Parts: sequence; structure tokens; C-alpha cells
Amino acid sequence: MRYGIISDIHSNLEAFEAVMTECRQLKIETLLCCGDIVGYGADPKACIHLVKKGNIVSVAGNHDWAVSGRLDFSYFTPNGQAAVLWTRSQLGMEDMIYLNNLPSWLKNKDCTLVHGTLQSPGQFTYLTNIEKASQTFALMENKVCFVGHTHVPQVYIEREGRIYSSDILDIDIQPDCRYIINVGSVGQPRDRNPLASFCVYDTQLEMIENHRVPYDIERAQQKILEAGLPQALGLRLREGR
Ligand code: ZN
Repeated sequence: MRYGIISDIHSNLEAFEAVMTECRQLKIETLLCCGDIVGYGADPKACIHLVKKGNIVSVAGNHDWAVSGRLDFSYFTPNGQAAVLWTRSQLGMEDMIYLNNLPSWLKNKDCTLVHGTLQSPGQFTYLTNIEKASQTFALMENKVCFVGHTHVPQVYIEREGRIYSSDILDIDIQPDCRYIINVGSVGQPRDRNPLASFCVYDTQLEMIENHRVPYDIERAQQKILEAGLPQALGLRLREGR
């Protein structure tokens, strides 16, 4: 199977469409999403539609559940809170139910998906260090787990009981290793690289690779302004932070 693994689309239709086009060229058979379909950007409805149309299986992100009312979002930044309220005003009942019903994590025969960590999937902890990675490794039943949430591509590798991390995401899967892969963000990268990020996971070739895709950032920014969303949510797209 040749998977495309995406995450943190954040209502950025321009970035999402560019990634979908790239996935067609890369002959991706199945797309999986690590959550945060909505929040921040100006096209929540169109992004949910595209996820459904592409038969993309997704877990919940904190923004998805905040919008649907399943998560208290009082801890979000002011811009994040404004985006939740604006996104709610754009969605109908069917989309709200769809977001609300996204599972907190899932697995198939090839991999596990979660937005933050496996030890508290519904609490959306950031997986940012070896300790958190080791807790998730302890709960993983697959060789590979894909995560998002930080918007920064990263890999944690477990080998002979030791864990180390790297930001090099092109991996030949080794028989004696397990992997947690943060695929980065489609719609709001924060690693100082503004290009949309996603990963390919090829189970036949036993490899994972990270791809970065250019998209029409100006148009996404313009839509954020026109929607009356906080201006900073558009500005940060150019800087990738
Ligand atoms: Zn996110």
C-alpha cells in the first residue's frame, strides 16, 4: 500500500488542493489524516468536503473537537479562539456532527494515527520530547505511528530500547526499529518552511518520505483577511511559523 499521510490542514484549501494534486502524481492509494482539518484558515467547509470526497480517514484534532463543542477551548490563544468561533459560524449541522464523530486515535494493519500522543489522545498533548515519545511507543501496537499537532516535521526512532529523534524524515524502515513520525502541517507549517508538508508511507518499499509542496499563499492570506479572521493567521503562512 502506498499511503499519503497528512495533518493540520487548518481550513487552508489552497495548500490542501496542492497536496492532493501532488498525491495524485505520487500515485498515492490511500490518504490518512492526523487531525485539525479546520481552524485558522478561511475554508473550513470546502476542506471538510474535500476530506470526505477523497475518502480520507481522519482522527480528531483539538480544533476539530473545539469547533464541534466536544473540547473546552478556553486554553487556546486569542487568535485560535476567534478562529473556532468564526469556523462554527460557517458550518452546518452535518459538518459539526462529522467533526464531533472523528475518533481520538485509530490503527489499521500498517500504522497508528493520533493527533498528539497515544497516552492521552483526547487531551491533545504535544509529542515534543523523548519522554513523551517513549510513552507513546509503549502503547503502540504497530511499527509506525503518525502524529501531527506541533506543525513541525520530526521523527522518533526506537531501537533496542533506546529512543532518539531527528528532523530527517526520509526513512528506510529497519526490521529492528519502530517509528513515530510527525508529518508536519499542510495548512500552517511552523518549521520556518512555508511549503505544505506531508509524508508518503510505502509499505512495499518499506520507506517513508517527507514532501513539501508550494501553493498560493497570497490567495490563502487574502481569504483570511476578507473573512475577518485575525490578520496574524494570514501573515504567519508566509513565514512558516
Ligand atoms: Zn494544528
